[in-house]
Amino acid sequence: MKEVIIATKNEGKVREFKAMLEPRGYDAKSLLDIGYTPEIEETGQTFEENAVIKAETISKETGKIVIADDSGLSVDYLGGSPGVYSARYAGEEKNDLANLKKLLKELEGVEKEDRSARFRCALALCIPGQETKTVEGSVEGYITDEPRGTNGFGYDPVFLVKDKDQTMAELSSGEKNKISHRAEALKKLSALLDQA
Ligand code: IMP
Repeated sequence: MKEVIIATKNEGKVREFKAMLEPRGYDAKSLLDIGYTPEIEETGQTFEENAVIKAETISKETGKIVIADDSGLSVDYLGGSPGVYSARYAGEEKNDLANLKKLLKELEGVEKEDRSARFRCALALCIPGQETKTVEGSVEGYITDEPRGTNGFGYDPVFLVKDKDQTMAELSSGEKNKISHRAEALKKLSALLDQA
């Protein structure tokens, strides 16, 4: 199996990448797996810029094939927030539950049709000796009134998938990994990855 470093310490993301990449013949290793502990400063204004920063930092450190994911939730009623600040919406400690509670509070009293949102994911791929490549994926939905389901991570329990009566956290990991923003982006990246 070919080794690919996933430039993240987010265990939810790591689980999904491992599940999606292993059947394609890749051994996905996280920053925790390789013992890389420093924080990478995400100074970009877009998901794509942050994904490139993370991928290039880790590629320079390791000299290996690296995929970085920068992702988050954009809520229309909030003008696209929390967006690139999704992980630290309720504070620097990056607490999923606190973030989700803050979001529900911001949307208190807002009708379903005004609660539209999408998950977005930018992936950057660094292959040693090649230019960095980027792709994006997204999935549409609505923010629920209260959390539902226990699978996934982050905002999954409050994200009702469009055209389904289930939140992301009510889908099995297999179902999420077929329809998610991350799955869509990874599908686009697969052909490029196979050229490595
Ligand atoms: P990043 O590590 O800076 O890209 O932050 C991503 C943040 O966006 C996560 O901490 C979650 O809060 C949110 N997020 C991204 N992808 C998902 C997902 O698939 N489900 C739920 N929340 C997600």
